[in-house]
Amino acid sequence: MSKKRYERPVIVKQQSGFMNKYGARESIKPLTEIDNIKIDELTEKFGSPLFVFSEKQIREKYRRLYKIFKTRYPKVRFAWSYKTNYLSAICSIYHQEGSWAEVVSEFEYDKARNLGVKGENIIFNGPDKDEAALEKAIREKALIHIDHFDELYMIMEITERIDITANVAIRVNMDTGIYPPWNRFGFNYENGEAMLALKRILVNDRLKLRGLHTHIGTYIMSAEPYRVATLKLVELAKTLYNQYDVKLEYIDIGGGFPSNNTLKGQYLDAEQILPTYEDYADAITSALFELNLPADELPVLTLETGRALIDDSGYLISTVIATKRLSTGKQALIMDAGVNYLFTSYWFNHKLMPTKETFGFTENTVVYGPLCMNIDVIRDDIYFPTMQKGDKLVVLYVGAYSVTQWMQFITLRPNVVLITEEGDVEIIREAEKLENITAPERLPEKLKDFSLDEQL
Ligand SMILES: *Cc1c(COP(=O)(O)O)cnc(C)c1O
Repeated sequence: MSKKRYERPVIVKQQSGFMNKYGARESIKPLTEIDNIKIDELTEKFGSPLFVFSEKQIREKYRRLYKIFKTRYPKVRFAWSYKTNYLSAICSIYHQEGSWAEVVSEFEYDKARNLGVKGENIIFNGPDKDEAALEKAIREKALIHIDHFDELYMIMEITERIDITANVAIRVNMDTGIYPPWNRFGFNYENGEAMLALKRILVNDRLKLRGLHTHIGTYIMSAEPYRVATLKLVELAKTLYNQYDVKLEYIDIGGGFPSNNTLKGQYLDAEQILPTYEDYADAITSALFELNLPADELPVLTLETGRALIDDSGYLISTVIATKRLSTGKQALIMDAGVNYLFTSYWFNHKLMPTKETFGFTENTVVYGPLCMNIDVIRDDIYFPTMQKGDKLVVLYVGAYSVTQWMQFITLRPNVVLITEEGDVEIIREAEKLENITAPERLPEKLKDFSLDEQL
């Protein structure tokens, strides 16, 4: 038996386990496996840090959400929000489930096309679509969701120049009761701008108005703003129907449903305070029925849900590089994954779990990443078991935005694996190598030679 390492004793005020009005603090249980695959096995084979996605959980969540909407409204379509997670394997799971693609840049558009999504199944959102991107998307019959008048005029020029019809919708922004309002994207509802944009589209023969779109924000913690937003789009649709005899094929309510993550400054866990997905579905679909249309004329309800679909199915395994006692006595963990992979830790108090049984004692802990930067903090204050070098922990609910917003900064990005429904573990993005980063660099000839041999 190897001799245990001596650790200087510290006295810390014990605060865990007290009752408060919400009950007692839960004891911290370990997470030893994901989909029956041992976490130790995963890191042995694929290294640490490691992003892990569960195909089973992704498909189950998708089917659950789809069903919640489909049982309340007859025509439902999801379009996968690429920016939320555009790893090819992840997008392809959603496409296999029947989801269209929702993209906000030419890069994402091309990525969807490369995966085999036809233009007509792509929703092209976002304020930045240049002329070449628009021309390509229009030729490929994508749905162009127009963001501003300059884009509208550019589309008019393109369609005239190449004599083609474009499939369009407008993005509408509005007061939904959320403050500050997201009024930078799309055309405003209240000041009449949205109606004006629609009129300009309707008088143009080369523009085919297919739908209306809004995306009211992200991590919206109440269903009510969705009811308000849907009702406002329904009002626009009624005006089109009654005054212009125009029928819409779809109404797109965007994304924005929350996941299990807990926002900073939120006292209770998200799971305890958020509305259910059924609440959101009730708000949206009951507002759509205000159209008072017969079943065959009802527009398709399109949803661009990102975060709520993928967040809970993504995990980040990380290893303790070192532990420290800060001068205050507080436990500090230095992990091998930091904010470079978890941009989302600026907004969320990510849920962390140890990967082996601990003894029930928890202490106030700060969890740092490996970067040489003061901002590299995963959790400021978390009651966590005492840990040692080499111990692992898992960051939960990191499926959304982390593997798209992550930075190549100081370290290379790690492997991303998918646990398939069959129980196989497949790499879906290889760990980066030095060559991946230096390949696009060019070193001017005159900078190639130097000598550091000292001549003292
Ligand atoms: C980001 C985005 C989404 C997805 O939002 P979530 O909050 O992740 O559900 C959907 N639609 C548009 C236009 C977006 O920009």
